[in-house]
Amino acid sequence: MKFIRAVKYGFCAGVRIADKKVKKFARAGGKNGQILGQVVHNERVVDEMAELGVPTIESLDVTTTGTVVFSAHGVPPSFHDEARDRGLRILDTTCPFVYDIHDEADAAVARNMHLVFIGKPDHREVIGYTHDRDPASYHVLTTLGEAAAVDWRAYAKIKVLYQSTLNAEEYEDVVRYIESQAADVSRADTICYATKENQDAVRELGADPEIDVILVIGGRQSANTRHLWELGRELKPSYLVHDLGDLEAEWFEGVETVGITAGASTPDYMIDEVENAVLELCAATS
Ligand code: SF4
Repeated sequence: MKFIRAVKYGFCAGVRIADKKVKKFARAGGKNGQILGQVVHNERVVDEMAELGVPTIESLDVTTTGTVVFSAHGVPPSFHDEARDRGLRILDTTCPFVYDIHDEADAAVARNMHLVFIGKPDHREVIGYTHDRDPASYHVLTTLGEAAAVDWRAYAKIKVLYQSTLNAEEYEDVVRYIESQAADVSRADTICYATKENQDAVRELGADPEIDVILVIGGRQSANTRHLWELGRELKPSYLVHDLGDLEAEWFEGVETVGITAGASTPDYMIDEVENAVLELCAATS
């Protein structure tokens, strides 16, 4: 059996750097470190960090000593003040692209623009952009229905920004609708192409005639992993693999070549483990 990995898969640059920073902190004997929210949406990575002595916490309320890690998705600016007020040190692993989006939003507000975030309101990155703002100063949406429910003519100038983990192309109809309704709409030039590159690469796997099935490896809570699987299965039999226990021998009956991709929060070692487990599974059932 042969494996062909997608041209682009797994950790994006922002998550790779965040992962390295936390591990460096732990290796240097970092005491009382805790990560606010999952460092990435992957249970294995979260467990690995906990074993290194940097567990995940869900709120700043539960800690008053040591170092708090802000993840690649970033946090609302007020969380930095709150952490300092609590006497915490901060290890900030926020991706520079996320900071670009914060800056772009601030600049737009300074120009009296209404903000539209294309994204999920409960995603931590989006909470980072919106938590400290006047709720009347922005909308967060992803669907045409949500866009159609707003009277955009009420806003003189509008700035559209995208949650970094989304593929902007997929929301073109939503943004075009807003543009058709309001006089002055501009889009922020802060799109991160990491997610799109992984999505384009899974489409390439799907179009490769040599590939029989596609495995998409990633965390249970990772929306971008699930989206890769949805794209893959449009073209080839595709299976989500959250952990090795998910693998089923029948997926590989008559299969010669397996395409492999992984969500943006999947460490490389998990991909190696899955490939080895597939070989063992096939050897055991042949
Ligand atoms: S997806 Fe892009 S913006 Fe988000 S953490 Fe990764 S590199 Fe940064």
